[in-house]
Amino acid sequence: MTTPALQSRLPAVGTTIFTLMSALAAEHGAVNLGQGFPDFDCDARLVDAVADAMRAGLNQYPPMAGAPQLRAAIAAKVAALYGRSYDAHAEITVTAGATQGIVTAILCAVHPGDEVIVIEPCYDSYQPSIVLAGGVPVPVPMRLGEHGYDVPWDRVAAAVTARTRMIVVNTPHNPTGSILRQADLDALAAIVAGTDILVLSDEVYEHMVYDGQQHASVSRHPVLAERAFVVSSFGKTYHVTGWKIGYVAAPAPLMAEFRKVHQYDLFSVNTPMQHGIAAYMADPAPYRDLPAFYQRKRDLFRAGLAGSRFELLPADGTYFQCVRYGAISAMPEAQFAQWLTREVKVAAIPVSAFYGSPTESGIVRFCFAKQDATLQAALARLARI
Ligand SMILES: *Cc1c(COP(=O)(O)O)cnc(C)c1O
Repeated sequence: MTTPALQSRLPAVGTTIFTLMSALAAEHGAVNLGQGFPDFDCDARLVDAVADAMRAGLNQYPPMAGAPQLRAAIAAKVAALYGRSYDAHAEITVTAGATQGIVTAILCAVHPGDEVIVIEPCYDSYQPSIVLAGGVPVPVPMRLGEHGYDVPWDRVAAAVTARTRMIVVNTPHNPTGSILRQADLDALAAIVAGTDILVLSDEVYEHMVYDGQQHASVSRHPVLAERAFVVSSFGKTYHVTGWKIGYVAAPAPLMAEFRKVHQYDLFSVNTPMQHGIAAYMADPAPYRDLPAFYQRKRDLFRAGLAGSRFELLPADGTYFQCVRYGAISAMPEAQFAQWLTREVKVAAIPVSAFYGSPTESGIVRFCFAKQDATLQAALARLARI
């Protein structure tokens, strides 16, 4: 008996760089600043809240769109922070992490042959999700100037065709650590005004914006919010990336289509975490205090590299710090990241991994969502180069 050959739906997809670099880091005993996750635990009160929900018998299927308590807590929070009142019943759906929210938004909106503009470098799930929907990813590269990365909106505008169905944005931005500002949202609004183009806004780092700057949520922008799926993740906000729970907010007509797909690609997210998180959200302190928490780690990491041969790029948001290494090596990024892991024993991620086609910028990404001791161990090694 032989297994029938399968024609791959995703022929270009292999093992992700995060898996490869984490394996290499483990093999060489390197400090892992590669994959983006905290090496410290979440708040014990959050674990208690989920455990309480389980003990209270909240262990059966929740409503398809999410526990009403959690949707209400999300709606209240978004309204308080960004001034848009999403209807918790019709406009918010709890998802299995931001990843499932993203693929579901794409699957419900993108038809075969539709074009979706993505701004590279970008999170690795966007393009495979578009391809699964039969869509065509249209990458537009970010501009890399003296002051770091920004989005060239003129080039985004030039990439729009009659087939453009959606534009995907991400702020704060992984991997670059850049953020969109009001002027960026206005530029995007000018591009989509008078068209049927939808916006997918990945805002999983919404609470990691530094130096007193405001998160420019698409939900804050009335023109964009009317046509946007806004995605967030409790994994990032509450230091529980392994929980894989997040949500999507969108105007009712978009959310109705979203739920048709969500109903069959997931149906619903586990019940106790929804109730636990809903209870935990009553206290805004955990996300209110997050910018200060991570800004201190960012500053510690930047100060440690300030005297090194790495050139620091601006880091306005996320828990990532990008650096140029041109003064150290002329190696391509993937090779440099491997060398760094093997020889210096600090793992990083090559930014080239976030492009669909080969793009070398001489930049790698470090994750600073780590205990101070972890950061200091990495800095001691990096400073010796
Ligand atoms: C981590 C991450 C996600 C995925 O979030 P999950 O809740 O773990 O699925 C999506 N987008 C970006 C930019 C991320 O960094």
